[in-house]
Amino acid sequence: MTDFRNARIDLSVVVPVFNEEGSLRELVAELEPVARSITSEYELVFVNDGSTDASARILDEIAHDNPRIVVFRLDRNHGLSSALHAGFLRARGTLIGTLDADLQNDPADLPRLVQAIHEGADMACGWRRDRKDPFVKRASSKIANWWRNRRTDSAIHDVTCPMKVMKREVRDVFYPFHGLHRFLPTLAQMAGHRVVEIPVNHRARKHGTSKYGVWNRVFRGIRDVRAIQWMQDRRMTYRVDRVVAPAEPRR
Ligand code: UDP
Ligand code: MG
Repeated sequence: MTDFRNARIDLSVVVPVFNEEGSLRELVAELEPVARSITSEYELVFVNDGSTDASARILDEIAHDNPRIVVFRLDRNHGLSSALHAGFLRARGTLIGTLDADLQNDPADLPRLVQAIHEGADMACGWRRDRKDPFVKRASSKIANWWRNRRTDSAIHDVTCPMKVMKREVRDVFYPFHGLHRFLPTLAQMAGHRVVEIPVNHRARKHGTSKYGVWNRVFRGIRDVRAIQWMQDRRMTYRVDRVVAPAEPRR
């Protein structure tokens, strides 16, 4: 039997988890066949972001008899940016995908995002055209998207859609700062990567509760946009167009 730990991985799917005990088993049952249909060399990377419910125990049980599942546990709850950052950094796949743990994203959409990468994109970003979130969330998110796009000169419809697939090297644009998970497509474009949007299915939360409302996003969001503007303003754009190196010594 090949040792999975040393095998080449084509696709890692990173899932951030904070108190999602009701969704985890169902998610794995939906996600794993889809990942396997894309490649036999896949891994599912769960990052337990300091859950206080039964998520840790359930993840241990799920991973115990499934070598394709890897679980990382953060020392305490650090927020979604940290959970994703930790997962992307540890993912071994040539392609890295991500989606939320709460079943709001539909794993069945993953193959289309992977296909977009095979067709030439560096990052494929989901676009929830028909969001199944409460009205206040949908409205605030629409305004935030519009404002973010305006301020960062971006044209991505759903920049915060949790479902994405990217080439491994694109993760380098995720600097270790809180809030940057909301700007990954913008950061990727800034670095010269090709980003495409793919319409994806969205479902209402079935189990547990949302951790993000209007008030814990809006002020941080404004501050974070300023950081992105600063980066855009101060970005280095040099090219090395000539190299003079010592000639190879003659024999
Ligand atoms: N999450 C996390 N750490 C947190 C908050 C949330 O890892 O501190 C995870 C959560 O388990 C889910 C994803 O991030 O998989 C998105 O969270 P949520 O569904 O609550 O946000 P919403 O979709 O309502 O914006
Ligand atoms: Mg959610």
